[in-house]
This record gives sequence, structure tokens and C-alpha cells, in this order.
Amino acid sequence: MDMKSKLRLQGRYILVNIAMIMAIVIILSSVQLYYFNQNSQKVLSQSTDNTTLSLLEQMHKRGLSVLDYLSEALVNPLYQLDLDATYRLLKPALSNEEILSAYVFDNKGNIFHDGNKVIVNFGHRVKNEAILEAVLEQQKLYSFTSNDSLIIAGPIFIGDSQLGGISLELSLENINQDIALMDKTISATNNESLSQITMSLVGSAILLSVVGIALSVMISRSLISPILTLVKHAKSIGRGEYDAENKINRHDEIGELASAFNEMGHSLKIRTEEISFLAYHDSLTLLPNRNLFVKQLKELLASYEHTQSHFAILLIDLDNFKCVNDNYGHEAGDNLLCEVACRITSNLRHSDYGFNPFEENHDNVLVARIGGDEFLICLPNLTSKYAVSKVTQRLIKAIRSPIAIDKEEVVIAGSIGIAHYPDDGVTAEELIKNADIAMYQAKGQGKNTFSHFTAEMNEKLRYRLEIERELRKGLSDLKQFELWYQPQFDMNNNHLIGAEALIRWRHPEKGLISPDEFIAIAEETGLIIPIGEWVVESACKQIRGWQSFLPHTFHIAVNLSAKQVYRQNAVSVFSKMLCKYQVPASRLHAEVTESLLMQDESEAKKSLDSIRQLGLQVWLDDFGTGYSSLAYLRKFQVDGVKIDRSFVTDIEEDNYDRALTSAVITMAKNLNISVVAEGVETPFHVNFLKSRRCDIGQGYYYSKPLPAGEFEARFFSKEGKAEKQLDAI
Ligand code: C2E
Ligand code: CA
Ligand code: CA
Repeated sequence: MDMKSKLRLQGRYILVNIAMIMAIVIILSSVQLYYFNQNSQKVLSQSTDNTTLSLLEQMHKRGLSVLDYLSEALVNPLYQLDLDATYRLLKPALSNEEILSAYVFDNKGNIFHDGNKVIVNFGHRVKNEAILEAVLEQQKLYSFTSNDSLIIAGPIFIGDSQLGGISLELSLENINQDIALMDKTISATNNESLSQITMSLVGSAILLSVVGIALSVMISRSLISPILTLVKHAKSIGRGEYDAENKINRHDEIGELASAFNEMGHSLKIRTEEISFLAYHDSLTLLPNRNLFVKQLKELLASYEHTQSHFAILLIDLDNFKCVNDNYGHEAGDNLLCEVACRITSNLRHSDYGFNPFEENHDNVLVARIGGDEFLICLPNLTSKYAVSKVTQRLIKAIRSPIAIDKEEVVIAGSIGIAHYPDDGVTAEELIKNADIAMYQAKGQGKNTFSHFTAEMNEKLRYRLEIERELRKGLSDLKQFELWYQPQFDMNNNHLIGAEALIRWRHPEKGLISPDEFIAIAEETGLIIPIGEWVVESACKQIRGWQSFLPHTFHIAVNLSAKQVYRQNAVSVFSKMLCKYQVPASRLHAEVTESLLMQDESEAKKSLDSIRQLGLQVWLDDFGTGYSSLAYLRKFQVDGVKIDRSFVTDIEEDNYDRALTSAVITMAKNLNISVVAEGVETPFHVNFLKSRRCDIGQGYYYSKPLPAGEFEARFFSKEGKAEKQLDAI
């Protein structure tokens, strides 16, 4: 196929050249032959004409001399009418074979003698009147040339008187024969030279063609062979052999094309290197990406297969990195990531654990950025968990030290999950997955820490996935969910003032599942949005159901999750349900946690402000577990704080918790907002909180969360007096 198309190009070039040369030769030859022919025709007819003319002239002259002689000699015989003498004079003339006829006529135009012995025409009038007119009337010579003969006639005088005339007819046959012969000779010569010319033209055409073919073969060779070289070069470039170079060294267009090919190969090499670098590296930090990490990890695994060596995979995920992006912008986020990448590598670089990660040897530490704020590290040659923990602590510390962004110092933390080879996995995927699970565990443990993977984590994850799957199923049948109520009491007068609505999941097989087991999962998967809406609706429905015997100030507090605040228009859900069940907004409270507010302060503030504008009270839940920031209380204008039960539980034995609880109550009082103590379990708790003038109590001391029916039976007597039941506790 290749050969064919190459030949075709070359062949076509030669063919076109030959065709052109042939065309030129044929045209030139034809023109030349045409003109030659024209000229020789002209020359031929001219020379024939000239010869005819000169022969005629000579004949004319000859005829005239005979006429002259006879007209002199015939004067006397005609005067004397001597027929014999006339005959004697005419006979010799007529014996000349050139002279066809001769006759003498008298002055009346009648024939006197016609040269024959017996004068047949004697006395007959001359037939040719033109002769008579010229000779007798005008007394001139007459001459006339026809195709075959020349007639000449002249007068015969004696003195001044005209006796008559004589007419001679001369044959042109000889002349015509001569001319025909000459014509033949000339055209024979002409034809001969024509064929000679044709022959020489054909010869030169063949010669020219041969020279043309040779030239075109030479030219096509000089064109085609570099093209073939370039084709070969292009194929090697196609195979990825970018170093291949053609050695064509010419100073023409082909030379330019050849050097363009060389340059193309060169720049393709650079581009390919760039592309493959980008394919295997993160463009921001220039660290290897996940693909390269996995590739190198697989190579490492292959080399470790038959050894007793151990190594560790670390997965670092920055904590609350999104806040940096949101608060300082993406450029700042990028700078921070670069700085973190730099800290990770430099802390491994200067590690004193007996290896140099950046040496060109096989034991290189691998560091990769595998996603927004996630980094993967492989620490080869580390035999003990202790050694790995040391490096990990070092990294946590390095990441944790303040980073300057926009002239501000930002502190970012990282959670690290660790998986060990071969205990926690023998494939790259398994090790990375388990490091990821361990990292989630570290996050769950309050971030800025690390955890080593354990088999239980896997079990937890499996359970988590199962819960998620079951939750999705449960959502199609909301009857699986129940809302239980835990009462809240005014600590001063023991009046029931409200209840917190707490969700329960009655799974058809697993039984009652507590919210601690599924709320976080619902939150992560977004399933909390339909669940939360159901909670608000159920609470409103319940208020409506209890309306006839509810104490005047009774409220139900519902817990709001972050997704409800940020992803769903919580206000519209509240107003829709309040309206649907005709419930006044003051009957509902919303509980939010500090960590929820921290995610996006301005967005959270907008959402909470509009919830408050609707008429709901907003309480800050789990106070004391997070930053417990006073600034938050002010900024978000909450109506109350709930002291987390972890503090209340320990106030009996823990001075610190006692002090903190007292401080929160004082602070809330000063800000003029309500304080709810959660987890009130014992009379000691009640007495202590009362002594610190805490407003509201909630906990097992009063009641565990109860299903609606039980709550109603226990706290709403027919008269609507809640205190009675309380006294009975
Ligand atoms: P929370 O908002 O802090 O709710 C109070 C939790 O403390 C409840 O656990 C309650 O049963 C428990 N509790 C109350 N008094 C005592 C006590 O004296 N001693 C002890 N040890 N515990 C007490 P529960 O119902 O398991 O709820 C756990 C968490 O689940 C809640 O914490 C809340 O964050 C979440 N949650 C519950 N229901 C919902 C809901 O409808 N929506 C959302 N988003 N979260 C909910
Ligand atoms: Ca709560
Ligand atoms: Ca709480």
C-alpha cells in the first residue's frame, strides 16, 4: 500500500512532465511543419509561375520573329496573289512542330492561304474577329494566350497600304509538359525535405522526452526521497520516539519542513513531559497525585512482597479547611495548601528516623495530594507503630503552627489516619481505604489528632453504611420514626414549661435506635433534611393535639442540624408547619449547636435571625463543649443556652465543671438570656443549680424522654396541672 502510493506520486510527477514535454514538442513541430509547408507551397507556385512566364515570353519572342519574317517575306506573294510562293514560305514554318497553324488573309479578312497544299479555307472569312479588328482596323499586333496555345497575328504592308495579315498559332504543349515536369520535381524535393524535417523533429522530440524523463526522475528523486524520510520521521514521532531526528540538511522548503519536523518532535517531547507530569502531579502543590501515589505504592508493595518489612500509609485531612476558603478566599486557601504541602515534605525531609526520603534510592517516602485538603504519605521502613506515631505527631505539630495569610495568622489542624502494611492491608486500595477510615475516626475524636486503623473501625464503617442504607429505606415509611418528649421544668417553682422533642427510630428488625447512632449519618448524607422536616411537622401536630390542656407558656424545642440551616430554608419549613397546624410560633423553640453556627457565621446568622423574626426562640445547645464563645451569644442573639450534660453530670466531684457551670449561668444572667441545665439527674444537681439560680432544668431527675402518649398521661392531668406529677417524682 505504501509502496504503491509512493510510486504513484513519483510516477504521476514523471507522467505529467512527459506529457508536458510531448505537448510542447508536438505543438512546436506542428507549427514548424505548418509554416514550412506554407512556405514551400508558396515557393513552388511562385517558381512555377515565373518559369511559365519566361517560357511564354520566349515562345512569344520566337513567334514574333517568325511573324516578322513571314510578314516581310509574304509582301510580294500576297501583292501578286501568288499562292505557290505563299505555300513555299508557309510550309517550312508549319514544319516546325511548335507551330500548329498559320494562315494569311487579305485586307478584307478572307483567308488567302492556310499553309496547306490544297487550300481548304481559301476565301473563308477569318473566324477570330478580334484578330481582324486588331490587325486590319487598328493595324497592330495581336496576341492571345489560351491554355494550350499562343495566337499571334500582325499586318502585312506594301508601303503604306495594307495588303492583309498573317496569324500564327503556337502550341503550348511543350511548355506545359516542361512545367508539369518541373512541378513534379519540385514537389518531390519538397516532400523529401518535409519528411527529413519531420524525421528530425521526431528525433529531437524523442531526445527531448528522454532528457525530460531523466530530469523529472532526478527532480522527483530529490523531492520524494526526503519526503519518504519525513514520513518515516512522522511515524517515529507517532510511536512516541520524540528524540528521533531527520538528517535532511537542505536550504530550501524541504529543508524548512524537515527542521519543522525536528522542532515538532522536540516540542512534542516537552509537551508530553508536561502532560505526563500533570497527569501524575497536582498542579497546585506539584506533589504527586493519587494516581502516581497508587502506582508507586504498588511498586513498593511488589518489592516488599517476600520480605518481612513493614511500612505505614498516612492520610491527612485538614480540619475545617472550608472555613479558610470561605473566610479568606480561594487564593488564600491555595496558599495555605501549598504551605501545608511544604511543611509535610520538609518535616519528612529532616526527619531523623534513619532515612532520607528524597534520596534517589528505592526507600523514598511518597507524599501526594489526593484531593482538596487531603494528603497521602507512605513511610517505608518504619517497623513499629511507635515510630510512625512519632512522625505523625511531628506532622500534626508542623501543620498546627500558625500560617500567615493576608497579614493574619491562621491556625489549621489536620486529622491523620494511619494504616500499616501488612497488618491493615496488602493492596494499595485496601491500605488507602483503611487509612481513610482511621482518619474519620481521628476526626470523630475531635480532630487535630491521629488514629491507627483497627478492625473495629471497619466494623463501625460497615455498620454506618448499613444504617445509611436502612435510613434511606426508613424514609419511605416515616412511621418508623417517633418523636419522644423530655420535659423541661422551671427550677424555681417546678412548673412544666416545655419539652424537648427527641427523635427515635423504631427499626422493624433492630428495634429502637437512638439518635446518637443515626443523626450524624443522616446529617452527613443529607437525609436529615426530610427527617428534620418530619420532626417539625410532628412537633406542630403534637402541639395542636395537646392544645386544649397545654399550660399557657408550654413550648416544644426541636433540634436543628447544620444541613437544615444551610441547605434548606428552615424558616419556610417552620412557617409552613405552624400555619398548617395553626400553632403560634411562640410554642416552638429551635436548638442549635455552636459548631453548627461556626460553619458559616453570616449565613447562620441570617437563618437564625429570620427564625427568631418568625417568633421562635433560638437556644444554643451543648454549651461548654465547643468554644463556648461569649462572642457567639452576642453575635447570634440567642434566647437561651443549654449547659451540656457532660458538665452537669460531674459537678458533684469536679470543681472545674462546677466553676464552669456557675460561670455560664452568671454570664447568661448578665446577658439576660435563659439558662437550661441538661442532664439533671440527682437532687445534688438540682440543689447546686438552684443555688446558682439556674432557670430551667432538664434531665432524668425529672423524666427520661417519653413517647407522646406516656408524656401526656404523666404530665397533663385532666385539669392541666403539671406540678402534681412532678411532686410525685
Ligand atoms: P441533645 O440535643 O443534647 O439531647 C439531649 C440528649 O440527652 C437526649 O439524648 C436525652 O435523652 C439525653 N438526656 C436527657 N437528660 C439526661 C440525663 O439526665 N442523663 C443522661 N445521661 N442523658 C440525658 P437522645 O435523645 O439520645 O438524643 C441525642 C442527641 O440526638 C441529641 O442531643 C440531639 O443532638 C440529637 N437529636 C435527637 N433528636 C433529634 C432531632 O429530632 N433532630 C436533630 N437534628 N437531632 C436530634
Ligand atoms: Ca437538644
Ligand atoms: Ca444538648
